[in-house]
Amino acid sequence: MSKSHHPNRLNMQAFAHEGVPIAETTPLQNMERLAYEAQAPSPDSAISWKASAELRPGGQAEDDVWLHLTASALVPLTCQRCMGTVDMPLEVNQWYRFVATEAIAMAQDDDSEEDLLVMEPQFDLLAVLEDELLMALPLVPMHGECPTPPVMQVGEEALAPLARNDGDDQRPGEKPNPFAALAQLKTKND
Ligand SMILES: [Zn+2]
Repeated sequence: MSKSHHPNRLNMQAFAHEGVPIAETTPLQNMERLAYEAQAPSPDSAISWKASAELRPGGQAEDDVWLHLTASALVPLTCQRCMGTVDMPLEVNQWYRFVATEAIAMAQDDDSEEDLLVMEPQFDLLAVLEDELLMALPLVPMHGECPTPPVMQVGEEALAPLARNDGDDQRPGEKPNPFAALAQLKTKND
């Protein structure tokens, strides 16, 4: 990695031209919005991530800049069943294509598999990474099996198998399955 590349003010053109990936570990505490969601992050909680960029021919005279971002982290969240700490693994695996303006991004967004970002002279890679990690957070963090018995046995139906709803009226108070939501997010990011 060239010393001239700062992940929070990255020259994407230069980064893509060089084609040398950045692989770093960022302390969770440095990501304020994510740390806010965490339960007392330990000082060594960290996010391992890798960014690589490449140029691909597009419709324009200049090649398009593409960015591939992968990350994995173990973020301590509060289990909503026993209120203890659950170390939740978060994964990011996302492609982005840079476009010249917000208007182009808006116009092409629906037709694009990849996410679109607007090209800026100093691109904040860490902010985009933090956005992805926040989106990867489970809606209802829970242990698979709580280390201590929960105080109240409510919400067990949330763990029932999927696809049980075959057109019947939803029972009042039925909660969405948090793991289904997680699975959907994972599919979207693959
Ligand atoms: Zn628990």
